Amino acid sequence: MKKLINIVAADDKNGLVSRLTRVPTNSYTMNMRSPPPKLLLVRDDEFLMHDTGRDHPESPARLQEVYRLLDRGFSGHRLPVGAIGILPPRPASREELTAIHSEEYLLRLEEAALAERGYLDHPDNRLSYDSYRVALLAAGAGPAAIDELEAKSATAAGALIRPPGHHAERAAPLGFCFLNNAAVATRYWQQRHGRKKIMIIDWDAHHGNGIQAAFEDDPEVFYLSIHEHPTWSFPGTGWSEERGHGPARGTTLNLPLTPGSGDEPVLRLLKEVVDPAMESFAPEALIIAAGFDGHRDDDMSGLAYSSGLYHHLGRHAATGAARYCPGRLLFQLEGGYQPALLATCLGNFLAGLLAAAAEET
Ligand SMILES: [Zn+2]
Repeated sequence: MKKLINIVAADDKNGLVSRLTRVPTNSYTMNMRSPPPKLLLVRDDEFLMHDTGRDHPESPARLQEVYRLLDRGFSGHRLPVGAIGILPPRPASREELTAIHSEEYLLRLEEAALAERGYLDHPDNRLSYDSYRVALLAAGAGPAAIDELEAKSATAAGALIRPPGHHAERAAPLGFCFLNNAAVATRYWQQRHGRKKIMIIDWDAHHGNGIQAAFEDDPEVFYLSIHEHPTWSFPGTGWSEERGHGPARGTTLNLPLTPGSGDEPVLRLLKEVVDPAMESFAPEALIIAAGFDGHRDDDMSGLAYSSGLYHHLGRHAATGAARYCPGRLLFQLEGGYQPALLATCLGNFLAGLLAAAAEET
């Protein structure tokens, strides 16, 4: 098994290491509760090497802010940092990628990066010499984390990666996305570990057209997305009428919200629609496409979420996984384009996730 690095070792200004790792010597004072749930986070400075040039919102600064907060032990977020370990990524294999993408597209993407063409298909999808290699690592982060979850070395895992993935189609990049990280992880979980029924919950501000396209004919993958209504928002898909095809009708569920919605409709949908959908589908694994661009100060959408909503979303993910698929919760970073705000909202999400996970054990 890979060595897991405890993040607090990097910075212990607050004395967290000594407080959390002190071993009680007196049986009367020994804490008899089970150890806190372990969350594995995939991080690697290689993800900063995908260079999108000046003035592009999907910038390395996004992850730099997230990693900085991680190095500070998520100070200000009241996280049980001793429960967090770091996992390095590995590149996705050809076989893992071709479960979702065409060979021709993979060659086209690799060639565009190595030839330093600047972008692929549309100037939104900027890339650099290193982008193909980095995209393979982003797509392989999910499978690497899934292997650890299946080995029971953690009860939840997250991939702090870029480029994001949920807009990437079988043979085309879209909206800063090149490889569909969530779709690759889903097929990997099914094919390598035999978990058949996978639920993907996507609350990035934008509809994950690429995830939907990958699974809209597959009744064993439930794709549920809460996003800004396609009338007002990129990429123009994700209408509530899109429900999946044939035997998969009903395992695609789009819940579009109008601009200015705020938190309340999300909380209501989680309770009235998402929970019943999860109960009837009973997933064997849960993947969260975690985008933070719905925040009111992120100008990529008009959804007007508060920072606190992400705490609820973290709680919801951990509670749902504990109920239907304990130990099999994976989240993958999608959008979120104000770097400092992204880090704050992610910290809130993790705080909610770990708090709920601790209550469930
Ligand atoms: Zn987005």
